[in-house]
Amino acid sequence: MFGECHAHLAMDGINYKQAMMRHVKSPDVRHIRTCFEAYQAKGVTFVRDGGDAYGVSHCASHIASEYGIDYRTPIFAIHEQGNYGSIVGRPFTSMREYAALVDEADALGADFIKIMTTGIMDFNEYGRITHHNLPAPTIREMVHIAHEKGFAVMSHTNGKRAVLDAIEAGVDSVEHGNYIDDECIAALAESRTCYVPTATVARNLIGCGQFPDEVLKRIVDTSYENIAKAIDAGCLVALGSDAGAVGVPHGQGILDEYACFAAAMPNRERLEEALTQGEAFIRTTFSRAL
Ligand SMILES: [Zn+2]
Repeated sequence: MFGECHAHLAMDGINYKQAMMRHVKSPDVRHIRTCFEAYQAKGVTFVRDGGDAYGVSHCASHIASEYGIDYRTPIFAIHEQGNYGSIVGRPFTSMREYAALVDEADALGADFIKIMTTGIMDFNEYGRITHHNLPAPTIREMVHIAHEKGFAVMSHTNGKRAVLDAIEAGVDSVEHGNYIDDECIAALAESRTCYVPTATVARNLIGCGQFPDEVLKRIVDTSYENIAKAIDAGCLVALGSDAGAVGVPHGQGILDEYACFAAAMPNRERLEEALTQGEAFIRTTFSRAL
């Protein structure tokens, strides 16, 4: 069974605002246990979290072993003040503040650093990404600071230019990576950056009536094309469903993401080989700094 390489234990797959409300005073331990039970029920023994703003992931890191789960966490994601990311983490306004957040994550037992370099998908409009991209020199400095401390970097990044900047900056994984093109895939193939497309998010929203289905279907088709191309090009790829996001249940999410990959790459042997290699990379790279 493959692991879940992108989850948010703080969220419930239904309504993120309500889910987060439960943790405002202190992390809802019952919710965390329900999530781990869902992973256990599906035989998932590896979970990499994407962070949250309320200490839920931190709390979960102390409980995971009770469920036989190897759980990796950045504690919180780090975003530029005013840009996207407040629901999953903490903001910085200067590099000094960013470095202090890295130190804080370190002190809390983070296994790696998660950064946000762009906004999220606008599911109402194909090709549109919310917010603005961090400048390439900023990303380079952020990655450098994290690497200097011995941390791998998980980068929430969408869009061609931003993905190229993230790869050039040396991030260890690109999360979502929507709207990439052949140039990005070539850059990924030459790099040691793992592509974690989280295709399930758009796929599971189809038919829910919240966004235009034709936009969602186009986004999913593009993801499938990129997954197939990435595997063909020999890129590192891994399964992460963004479990906890709306429409993506914990446990089931990773089966859904596997179904996306299987639809994109019908050659099962090549798919399994690529995913095994990708997960091994995530497991070894995104581990606690020494
Ligand atoms: Zn996420």
